[in-house]
Amino acid sequence: MPLDPVTRPPALAIATQLPDDLPAPPTQAQLEALVAELSSAAAASAGEAGKGLVMIRSGSELERLSRDFSSYSPVLTPLLQDRLAQLVVKASSTEQVQLVAGACARHGVPITLRGSGTGNYGQCVPLAGGVVLDLSGLNRVRQLDSLSGVLTAEAGCLLADLEQQLAPHGRELRLTPSTRRSASLGGFIAGGSGGIGSVRWGFLRDPGNLLGLEVVTVEPEPRLLQLDASASAPLNHAYGSNGILTAVTVATAAAVPWQQLVVDFSSWTEAVAAIGALPATALLLNGLCLLEAAVARNLPCPGGHGHRLLLLAAADALPALEPLLGAMGGRLVWQAPERGCRGVPLRELCWNHTTLHMRAHDPGWTYLQMLLPQPEAPALEALKQRWGDDLLWHLEAVRQQGCQRLAALPLVRWRGPEALLELMEQARQQGALLFNPHVFTVEDGGLGVIDADQVAAKHTYDPAGLLNPGKLRGWSER
Ligand SMILES: Cc1cc2nc3c(=O)[nH]c(=O)nc-3n(C[C@H](O)[C@H](O)[C@H](O)COP(=O)(O)OP(=O)(O)OC[C@H]3O[C@@H](n4cnc5c(N)ncnc54)[C@H](O)[C@@H]3O)c2cc1C
Repeated sequence: MPLDPVTRPPALAIATQLPDDLPAPPTQAQLEALVAELSSAAAASAGEAGKGLVMIRSGSELERLSRDFSSYSPVLTPLLQDRLAQLVVKASSTEQVQLVAGACARHGVPITLRGSGTGNYGQCVPLAGGVVLDLSGLNRVRQLDSLSGVLTAEAGCLLADLEQQLAPHGRELRLTPSTRRSASLGGFIAGGSGGIGSVRWGFLRDPGNLLGLEVVTVEPEPRLLQLDASASAPLNHAYGSNGILTAVTVATAAAVPWQQLVVDFSSWTEAVAAIGALPATALLLNGLCLLEAAVARNLPCPGGHGHRLLLLAAADALPALEPLLGAMGGRLVWQAPERGCRGVPLRELCWNHTTLHMRAHDPGWTYLQMLLPQPEAPALEALKQRWGDDLLWHLEAVRQQGCQRLAALPLVRWRGPEALLELMEQARQQGALLFNPHVFTVEDGGLGVIDADQVAAKHTYDPAGLLNPGKLRGWSER
């Protein structure tokens, strides 16, 4: 359901506590009964589904698989750090997923789904114990339509592996997070939003990107459903709270041998004008990111000393780009084809990889996410004036509902929750639309409002509310 950001401003809050209506973690007796059922299914010769089901009940692996990258938020870290699964189950087939879903439903045990665990908002941290169901073993490509390029693949496929399998067919994924090398397809759909390619293809939620889902329900007798594009929409970015994705169908793009370019600007004003103007040309771009000089110099980013514009551009854009960038006040300081390039690819310097590199340099940095108002310059200036070097700009060019816009993922020096709230409030007053990364519910990380379709999907596919408890606020408040 499209939301109107003008009439429905985002809630401005950061997480301060876990929900008080979380279910109690399953008792030892519940867990023993669950493990016994899964073990006997695994042992049964007739139970193909049970073969190879891996269960982990303690130790560092259990801890590792209960974590994600929410450590980027000093707000979420203390809230989530002691949350642990009581059992991790690794599945490698749809039948195994059904087996686990059915057994958990019968024993009343919560399930938190996990792809690669690279989410930033504690999406796959289990708030109420129970099972973490690791889906990385569901890693087969089911179909690539040679005419349309439509791809159906299992949810645990790594995006990088998919890219490798698409390449010989002259196709590539339209959208990938900067974690393409490690993230899974299911985790991207359920937990991500966009990234490389968003300048061209918008966000995962834009109609036309996600075309269908295969879903396992959490019921005593789980159903295996095939959802079309519109039925899939409520499960898109729902943190695995309203259905287990076992396969995903997406549109792909014709592959382009992308060229990486780094452009240096001594003037911030000119650099902002350039990132705003380039998407309005006929040049084929797949990534366009602007880093303030103080950010760029702490990243393993080639060339230059000033503010740096990072581009992924088609080769046929190059003859026009260089003079154009010069006229815009920029200087091309580095260029290399992406394929076969050594060193850190530009893809891993942008989106939330910028935050990763800055935090590696100094863990006192955290971040925010926002869509900037248009024109952008007054908001950028006003916020910079108030926060000085505690706020370093990182901008990404994106397509938002068909229009070219600038998103910002600024680095924010952590000065405590009050300062963070003040900054968020000021950004909102300047007209920015915030996507708060310091909260753990779907709604609070989005526009702050409950999506009735997401809640209805949970009623249908997870009627006992066992999937990822505490993450869908609309379910608790229904
Ligand atoms: C350095 C860094 C850079 C990042 N850059 C980006 C970026 O550019 N764009 C972006 O969108 N995100 C980004 N992220 C966040 C994250 O990497 C991506 O969203 C990624 O796609 C998540 O995939 P995953 O397999 O790790 O998912 P996980 O973290 O394992 O899961 C994410 C959510 O999806 C649910 N889930 C996982 N698998 C399934 C399934 N099969 N069925 C239902 N639910 C499921 C989980 O329960 C969880 O709620 C970044 C994170 C980091 C650390």
